[in-house]
This record gives sequence, structure tokens and C-alpha cells, in this order.
Amino acid sequence: MSDKKDIKSMPFELLTTELAERGYPKFRASQLYRWMHKDLVDSYEEMTNLPKKMKEELQTAYDFTKIRMIDRQISQLDGTQKFLFAMPDNSLVESVFMKYKFGNSVCISSQVGCRMGCRFCASTLDGLSRNLLPAEMLEQIYAIHRITGEKISHVVVMGTGEPLDNYDNLVTFLHMLTDENGQNLSMRNITVSTCGIVPRIYDLAKEDLSITLALSLHAPTDEKRRQIMPIAETYSIRELMDACRYYFDTTGRRITFEYSLIANVNDTEEEARDLWTLAKSVGAHINLIPVNPVKERGYQQPQMTAVRAFKEKLEKQGINVSIRRVLGRDIDGACGQLRHRHLTEDGSVD
Ligand code: SF4
Repeated sequence: MSDKKDIKSMPFELLTTELAERGYPKFRASQLYRWMHKDLVDSYEEMTNLPKKMKEELQTAYDFTKIRMIDRQISQLDGTQKFLFAMPDNSLVESVFMKYKFGNSVCISSQVGCRMGCRFCASTLDGLSRNLLPAEMLEQIYAIHRITGEKISHVVVMGTGEPLDNYDNLVTFLHMLTDENGQNLSMRNITVSTCGIVPRIYDLAKEDLSITLALSLHAPTDEKRRQIMPIAETYSIRELMDACRYYFDTTGRRITFEYSLIANVNDTEEEARDLWTLAKSVGAHINLIPVNPVKERGYQQPQMTAVRAFKEKLEKQGINVSIRRVLGRDIDGACGQLRHRHLTEDGSVD
């Protein structure tokens, strides 16, 4: 990575200040921001209303993040598209485009790799390389829009990486994605998923954003959670629930518990009971995810009948439960698998 600041990672106010220091009026910042974040051009040449001298100056002074598509898989079953992108330093990152009745959604990555070590997850198999810049997160959405021609209405930060482990860049990204000078996405259409970094949940609550926070819970007891998620060694479920309650009380936004059902690991009667007790205690909605098989971990996907039975047990207790649709079953399924396959096959990109 170069030492220069990245111009596409600057929120509008910062861009305005930077340009003012170079003697440019505010309307130039508006024009530039619009080209980058609304019109989604990926070169200065296309910014036809900016003076040539200004473009040359900016080109020399700043980095301008561009990403390249390396692979694209399209599901023949449901139209889900999985993308592998190379960042400017050739780091590989996955993103997914999904069509729903309510609109088009993109799932983006927030880090190159991940250091959280969740046992059911392929994204962490190669460890963490680095954090993604705000522009590198934005560009995954922009590139998918450019490639598919489809408008993106919803964004989930649930791909590779732990978003709260890249906190400052995540918050900048959220502000930029919802900026009225750019994509102007509604905060309510954005979901951020965390494995549960407790102090950061408190920080996020104080940011006053109306995003949805999804907590990857996956087990309702400390003992079981520690077996599948190393983060549970640091924060207990009690601490997590206190943070969730604070988040809900501060933002008024209901938390979602993500619960990957793993056959014979976390799907007993007792676990269903413990799970609904936790959900009731913080008023959470539960999203059940039939786990994608990860060959390296030996995890099996449960039968759909078992998933439905688990759901009914929770619903009988008045809990709001959904089952995540398994999309793109015919393409490299689990998050991180496409990237992992490219890394293990080759280890580099040209
Ligand atoms: S589930 Fe999320 S936090 Fe856990 S290892 Fe995978 S990417 Fe990281």
C-alpha cells in the first residue's frame, strides 16, 4: 500500500477540507464526491466538469482506489452472484449479490481474511492479512452495480472479516454509503454482523446510526460457544447480553441473533430453550442459518426438517424467527470458500 491518502475513502466533509486547503471551493468537492460516489466513475478522465489541472494535482497527491474482478460465479438456481475482487495491492476479497423480493442486496467483506477463528467459517482459515479501507468496502458495492447494472438497495457487512475489528473504517464507510451526495442508502437497509466484540458494541450504540446489528451467537452457553468461537474466551454471554440490551435501549433497534445450526453440535432441545431465554431477555429476533458444510472443519449441514423443527420450538415461545434462505447452493457456497480456493490453488493474482 502507498503512503498517500486515499481520496475515495474521504467522507464529504473531509474531502471539502482537503480541497479547501488546496484552494478549491466547496462546489468542486461536491462535484468530485458525486463523480466518485454517485456516478461511480473509476477514473479522473471521466470527470468532465473538473479542470484538467485539478485532476492532475489530485492524481499526483492521492491514491484512487480501484478494484478488479478476478472471478464471478452465477447461480443457475436463484441468480445469486459471487464475486472475487482484487484490491489495489492484489489482496483477494469476496462479495455476494443476492436478489430478494424487497430489492437487491450485496454482502461485502470488511477485512482481508479474519483473525477471529470461528470454527464453522472458511474466511478465517488463512488468518487476517489487513483491514479494508472505506473505499475498498464501498467499491465492492459500486463494482457489482457497474458489472450487473442492477441497483443495490440493501447492504450487509457479513462477508469475510469482523467489521468491529476494523471499527473506524467501518463507521466512515457507513457514513459515506448513506451520504446524500453519494449513494444515499438508508441506514435501515444496512446490517452489520459481529461475532461479539463487546466494547465495540457499546461504541457502535453511541454512534447513533439506525443500522441493524446482527450478533453471531451460534451457541447459547459459554461452554458450547467457546468450542466453536474463540471470541467467547474473551467475552461471556452475560457480557454480550448486557451489551445487546444497551444497544437496543440506546438505538431502539432490535438486535438479530444469527444462529448457524450445525448438525449434532448446537441443535438439542436444551439449546433451543437456552436460546429462546436469551432472545427474550434482550427482545432479539433469531435468524437460523443451516450451516454451509466446511470440508476443512468436518461440519455437516442439518436436514431442513430438523431446522424447521428447531424453528417451531422457538416460535412456540413467541420468538420472532426466520430461516436464512440458502442461496447459491451450486456455487462456492460458504463465505470465504471462493477466496480460499483461489489462494490454495494459486496463492497470487496476476
Ligand atoms: S464468522 Fe465472521 S468473525 Fe468469525 S471467523 Fe468468519 S469472518 Fe471472522
